[in-house]
Amino acid sequence: MPYYNEKIETMPKDELAKLQYQELKKLVTRLYDSSVFYHTKMAESGVKPADITSITDITKLPFMKKTDLRDNYPDGLVCVPHEDLVRYHVSSGTTGKPTVVAYTQNDIDLWSECVARSLVSCGVGKKDVLQVCYGYGLFTGGLGLHYGGEKVGATVIPASTGNSERQIELIQDLKTTAIACTPSYFIHLIDVAKKMGVDFSKDTLLRTAVLGAEPWTDAMRRYIYAESGVTAHNIFGTSEISGPMFTDCSELNGMHICGDIAYTEIIDPKTGEQLPPGEKGELTITVLKKEAIPMIRYRIGDITSILEGDCACGRTSPRIDRLQGRVDDMLIIRGINVFPSAIEHALLKNPYLTSHFMIEVFRTGPLDDMLVKVELKPDAMTDSINGLMEMQMRTERALRDALNVSAKIELCPPNSLPRFEGKAKRVIDHRVI
Ligand code: AMP
Ligand code: ZN
Repeated sequence: MPYYNEKIETMPKDELAKLQYQELKKLVTRLYDSSVFYHTKMAESGVKPADITSITDITKLPFMKKTDLRDNYPDGLVCVPHEDLVRYHVSSGTTGKPTVVAYTQNDIDLWSECVARSLVSCGVGKKDVLQVCYGYGLFTGGLGLHYGGEKVGATVIPASTGNSERQIELIQDLKTTAIACTPSYFIHLIDVAKKMGVDFSKDTLLRTAVLGAEPWTDAMRRYIYAESGVTAHNIFGTSEISGPMFTDCSELNGMHICGDIAYTEIIDPKTGEQLPPGEKGELTITVLKKEAIPMIRYRIGDITSILEGDCACGRTSPRIDRLQGRVDDMLIIRGINVFPSAIEHALLKNPYLTSHFMIEVFRTGPLDDMLVKVELKPDAMTDSINGLMEMQMRTERALRDALNVSAKIELCPPNSLPRFEGKAKRVIDHRVI
């Protein structure tokens, strides 16, 4: 059973708890002494580093949320001198403001080590050719898998997204054995390959896929295997904790959260109480060693549970189940986070639009499509087809720039969309995952 870091990955649980406590204590002490943001947050909750005497005392610490990053945009949470930063990533936020994440060299190394362990647990190693078809750029997917792949010694192809026929040529010509992308994109690639007369199981060496950034199911895993002979592993992460980090192992039964790097809690989203293994709640992660922007008890907003029992692979870190939804209204469109509030924010920058809008999400083929219906202001109504098309294209461009994902816009006459007396229901999600 190969491990990337056997000693740590199979460490007895009591030793792991001791290590987690030492790291947490170091982290909390550093932040209390050196960061206004974290000091204030701890002081408001009436907790001091001296109150942390075991890892279970983590529950005394206050939670963090995405709004902490947004409210301190762009770099108010950075806890190291700016000259120690080596990278920024940026993901879409809950309003027009994005979420900025900063990294020191140690943060990048820790993230890469985590991805390396995860890739090895999926069976990817030195002999593999890993094609990374996540976006390279502000999104963490591309570079995250890239650095982890290089760390395990695989030959990495930085293919990024799009150009599907070319992706399939690369898989054939460069003898790709493993691929990393969103599950919907991989299913799309299977379809494109079929149209090109390429059968992944017979005509390529591709055998492993590391799929994430959006929800998917075990039924999709079985479909992928039946259609392509490729074993699909689930990978999870979020930019705030670094990026994609944790995968399921060869047992394909839950994603291992490397315990020396991150501490996992499941909490009741209403009360904030910690829930025991087996119970579903909001995933909350503390990254124990992050330097630039440490995340303590970060409420990720995804619903899952910690799985009970030990894993047959021998890793002692906790495993989480597939993510089963969100506690907020965040949509995931082609792997990109989209908040209805961010759509509203982008729409309202256009002087001819109102705040009456509806979002519909479809999955006709393997990929997601989003339609945004929005009402025009009465004085913007026109009989000119050209005028309407111009407004539609301008709005589509503005949304694409704001959200990093395309949406079709339908301009609607004033007073034509539903009004709500209670909480507005702006999203109709037609997808069946
Ligand atoms: P980002 O910060 O842009 O990387 O987005 C992170 C969010 O994407 C997570 O909080 C999840 O909601 C979603 N996500 C990432 N990986 C998965 C996965 N394997 N399954 C379901 N949702 C995922
Ligand atoms: Zn395992």
